[in-house]
Amino acid sequence: MIYRTINIPVFLEIGEGILEDFNGILKKHNLSFSRPLILTGEKSSKVLAGFDFFNRFEKLFIRENDLETLLVIKSDIYGKGYDLLLACGGGRVIDSGKFLSLETSLPLVAIPTILSSDSVSSPISILKDNHGTRSMGTVMPMGVLIDVQIIRTSPEIYLKAGLGDLMSNLSSAYDWELAYKRGFERIDNFSRMLALLPAQRILLKTDGYKGLKDEELLADLAEGLVLSGISMAIAGSSRPASGSEHNISHSLDRILGQQKKLHGLQVGLATVLTLILQGNREQADVLSQLYKKTGFPLNLKELDISCEDFEKALEIAPGLRDRYTVLNEIPIEELKEVARARLCK
Ligand SMILES: [Zn+2]
Repeated sequence: MIYRTINIPVFLEIGEGILEDFNGILKKHNLSFSRPLILTGEKSSKVLAGFDFFNRFEKLFIRENDLETLLVIKSDIYGKGYDLLLACGGGRVIDSGKFLSLETSLPLVAIPTILSSDSVSSPISILKDNHGTRSMGTVMPMGVLIDVQIIRTSPEIYLKAGLGDLMSNLSSAYDWELAYKRGFERIDNFSRMLALLPAQRILLKTDGYKGLKDEELLADLAEGLVLSGISMAIAGSSRPASGSEHNISHSLDRILGQQKKLHGLQVGLATVLTLILQGNREQADVLSQLYKKTGFPLNLKELDISCEDFEKALEIAPGLRDRYTVLNEIPIEELKEVARARLCK
């Protein structure tokens, strides 16, 4: 028999108020640990301060996510009798947790307090080193616990960013197929579907959602971002969830420097443009309706990015990385024209 093996979390629990039932969840999955260590950040610890769960275990604050600091933390916790790491926080804490899990071989449970990207359940961490920020292969968490009650109280801007990062899969799936058709890349349909279908589901349900904090939308978003992370683990790269719209966002990061906006907001807005470039104007229109309903920025002005800077990003985006996308097939003047017509209002 010929199969392939993939690492996915032992458990995935998404629900209202489930954090306090942490022990019950472990039990349900036949897991037990005697000395967990909570990794957290300043803001997250305030959000979680009222929870029994949070006060029950030892805590360590992740203040910086550079490799040097994390290696010091590793030597502080290694061989001290801990048998589980619990990363309770945003992307910085969870990405650091995945790195520390890899370095110490301790299993990790990711407990996000915000949902701003699809990195919760991916085996990739964005960390800092001497040369700036970089994306590193780390580990998939052993478990993922998303308490919707906590996510609902998180700042709206993070929820919008999470929505944008998930919806960008509509565009990246097209680009992956395009690269495959042109003979530049192999394609993995399991992984492509896992990333694409949750985004399509949300798009189809646009009319039914009441707004950004709609209970069903939050659950769909949480599930979708988790599946998106797993799709990257299956593909062995970010390919299923990162195409032309991510190229534009990475280019914006370079041009804007400190002024860059949240990753999910940039990729989410760029997706409206790339869908049109891909010949999917209808989807772009429904996506704009979803954005309107959820308060997601509808144009560059609302995202506080100038059209000039966006055009500069379009110039470098096609050649930014070795990833063939729709941007490689359209002349730059046409790219700018479509961007002006749709995003510069
Ligand atoms: Zn992304």
